[in-house]
Amino acid sequence: MRIEKYSFGIGDRFGKEGEAQLEAIQEINKLGIPVVPVWNKSNREHTIVKTNPMAVLEEAKKAVAAKGWNNSYYVDADHIGLATVEEFINYSNFFTIDVANFIRKPVSETKKDEFVNRHAKYTGALKIPGIQEEFEVTKAYLERIADNYMLAVQEVKKIYSHIVEKKGKNNFIPEVSMDECEIAQTPLELFFILAELKYEGINVQTIAPKFTGLFAKGVDYIGDIKRLTTEFEQDVAVIQFAVKELGLPENLKLSVHSGSDKFSIYPVIRETIKKYNAGIHLKTAGTTWLEEVIGLAQAGGEGLQIAKEIYQQSVERFDELTSQYITVLNINPAELPLPEKVQHWTSKQFSDALTHDKNCPDFNPSFRQLIHVGYKIAGEMGSTFQNALETYREKIATNVKYNILDRHLKMLFGI
Ligand SMILES: [Zn+2]
Repeated sequence: MRIEKYSFGIGDRFGKEGEAQLEAIQEINKLGIPVVPVWNKSNREHTIVKTNPMAVLEEAKKAVAAKGWNNSYYVDADHIGLATVEEFINYSNFFTIDVANFIRKPVSETKKDEFVNRHAKYTGALKIPGIQEEFEVTKAYLERIADNYMLAVQEVKKIYSHIVEKKGKNNFIPEVSMDECEIAQTPLELFFILAELKYEGINVQTIAPKFTGLFAKGVDYIGDIKRLTTEFEQDVAVIQFAVKELGLPENLKLSVHSGSDKFSIYPVIRETIKKYNAGIHLKTAGTTWLEEVIGLAQAGGEGLQIAKEIYQQSVERFDELTSQYITVLNINPAELPLPEKVQHWTSKQFSDALTHDKNCPDFNPSFRQLIHVGYKIAGEMGSTFQNALETYREKIATNVKYNILDRHLKMLFGI
């Protein structure tokens, strides 16, 4: 199983938007960009809304059948670890092996020596095609890499081996993710992480490093775009070098997590993958849930009431809801409107505050990010929320499709 050049992560908290999401993918294919869908849902999300991995596969199958999609599609066990992988084995064919928690854990001197010896041939000046600067790799540098990433790669190996044993080596797409950690990985670090993954026999096909800057949930990129541009280009160059040099799968590509709504860097991604003729995977899970809330707010009546209730409870349970997303949020509590005030808002006021439109003066990124993590509240509302998604289906589906197609896919691929 080899993932295609362009793939798009379309997560869905409540499993109702598969068809609308797939319609967007079909549309971009009609426009000449061959993108395949990957339905992703993390263990974290399953736990929070009390759903199971089987439901995601069923949603995907249902959408594919209803829309007559004849191409590949994938179901991503997103952000799994050794303790959580088992439940996903039978229902996923894409596994995002998350080892962020194993980064920066020193290893023994013996292990470190082994690592340094293994990669000793890269010491001295290292020139990577496509990168202007020449890197200087020292023994001390390799020792640092070992201390920072060796344990993480060994953890990948444990999880990867488990999946191989259960599914067979060629029956799934392995992704390695390190995005939810504190410090970004440099392109040179990425090379040695890949070299060590190769040594451990892991045929990684997509890799999600932590990039410089902040990829906060549901809002635009926060950081130095110039710096990110250089880093992103170098990462792509490193991957192409690693494929040739190390013999990693030829389709190996970068995966951008929390990729939804990063409108200001889509041109960077687009130009770079064009320049290097490279592939890309981009995950956009939470943005679809936000479209559900926007659709409910726009519908007015009971829909708007539900949206207000979600916000009110999200404010009350702020710490609880944000605690699991601490590295990927940038909420300024002072910017959050008082729930009492929001109770008097019209559909338009609520929708304008929530919709990611930088040109709208009422757009409130803090409000949007808090609702982004507020899906737990909707999950707890049970049938009230689920029924509302059905009652206002047409409006919500239109929003979901428009958001994925016009604001994400077309922007990313420059159409
Ligand atoms: Zn992620």
